[in-house]
Amino acid sequence: MRHAMVLGAGIGGLFAARALSEVYDRVTVIERDRLPVEAGQRRGVPQGRHAHVLVTAGAQALDRLFPGACAELVAAGAPVVRDFAEFRLAPGGGSPLRLLGPAPEPFACLVSRPFLEAKVRSRVRSLSNVVVRDGVAATDLAAVGGRVSGVRTAGGTLDADLVVDATGRGSRAPAWLSALGYPAPSRERVPIDLMYVTRRLRPRTLPALVVGVSARPGRPRGIVLFAQEDGRAILTVSGYGGHHPPRDPAGLLAALADIAPPDVVAAVRAADALGDPIVAHFPANVRHRYDRLRRFPAGFLVLGDAICSTNPAYALGMSVAARQAEALRDVLMAGEHDLARRYFRAAARPAHAAWAAAVGGDLALPEVPGPRPLPVRLARVYTGRLLRAAERDPVVAHQFLRVAALQEPATRLFRPAIALRALR
Ligand SMILES: Cc1cc2nc3c(=O)[nH]c(=O)nc-3n(C[C@H](O)[C@H](O)[C@H](O)COP(=O)(O)OP(=O)(O)OC[C@H]3O[C@@H](n4cnc5c(N)ncnc54)[C@H](O)[C@@H]3O)c2cc1C
Repeated sequence: MRHAMVLGAGIGGLFAARALSEVYDRVTVIERDRLPVEAGQRRGVPQGRHAHVLVTAGAQALDRLFPGACAELVAAGAPVVRDFAEFRLAPGGGSPLRLLGPAPEPFACLVSRPFLEAKVRSRVRSLSNVVVRDGVAATDLAAVGGRVSGVRTAGGTLDADLVVDATGRGSRAPAWLSALGYPAPSRERVPIDLMYVTRRLRPRTLPALVVGVSARPGRPRGIVLFAQEDGRAILTVSGYGGHHPPRDPAGLLAALADIAPPDVVAAVRAADALGDPIVAHFPANVRHRYDRLRRFPAGFLVLGDAICSTNPAYALGMSVAARQAEALRDVLMAGEHDLARRYFRAAARPAHAAWAAAVGGDLALPEVPGPRPLPVRLARVYTGRLLRAAERDPVVAHQFLRVAALQEPATRLFRPAIALRALR
């Protein structure tokens, strides 16, 4: 009986368990937290109290991993963007993208993070060869002769043929590797000092299901207002270093009014607030280059934020994890020869797309410190033109959105048909 073990039952761990269930006889997921039966906040996923959207590529991957999952979310009350009139996204920080017509299905899952996680968790629990054990923390890897043979916990060692670390941004995998005598991956870090201040709301009406106005040079603050399940909504004001949003309700509303159109401000003012504003600090984009390691033990892989964690304002982390889970299944199905190299190379692709979008966008703001080599400066000028064109040209707007939602590679933004429209 071949046994795979996943560390962490966050969204990446759950996707990984599904992928592994197709290849291994048995899969065990261990999770440090006690897991709620229904949707509920928990300590190990503090980001769950903030707005979380699964962009199109992630929603599509979710549906491939768990057929019918998006329809199930909708049946359970997730609002769906059926027409682009319901979708007001201004990634350039000015006017919204000029998007027209009906939205493709499945398009952006609008649910809270605990709701999404609970639905995915119950799908994973219904798999006959997967067991989720909560209240169990991984403390170290166990290894025998150059091969990871399991994981150590306070209750003893749990054996497995493959261990997948999905413990999120705080993953200890680099230290665990060093302790086994392997090199740790190099780390890339782009500090952004981003602050999120979030309010959950019960609105009377909403001007659109999705409203987003991004930070822009000279005004390094952005907002999102998303509809959610049960008639609720979630509002976040975010700001980079030196421009962190106020945490008190009145100050937050004033900050919103500086950025959002009047109908959005009016809808928020008229809404009932559910609880106090909640704060999250996101210091830096971080990525570990497992794809560059030459020596790596057999029997061990890493997935999700544990590889790459990018600015949440780009809303890509869960979708990257979903894509990596699919990559995990695909490389395993092709055999176990040279597994780590093949997997990390495949997992780096969605991570790189998210990294390029987030770091490129962050460094376009003069308020974010850091070196800007010539290619970054050129990309910034081009993207500025492109985003301005996308405010009036639907062809550019739809192309931009497909790239921003990880459906197509960023190179699509540079093809002649788009470049001509952007530079015209
Ligand atoms: C404020 C904020 C907003 C965000 N908004 C979005 C968004 O809109 N869209 C989007 O796609 N992404 C968003 N993200 C990113 C998203 O939250 C992550 O990319 C995603 O959760 C990564 O999944 P993961 O499974 O790798 O890690 P996590 O979901 O963080 O899960 C890690 C799990 O591992 C468990 N764990 C940790 N250590 C151990 C251990 N030693 N043993 C056992 N279990 C352990 C934790 O308890 C947790 O359950 C946002 C992030 C933040 C901070």
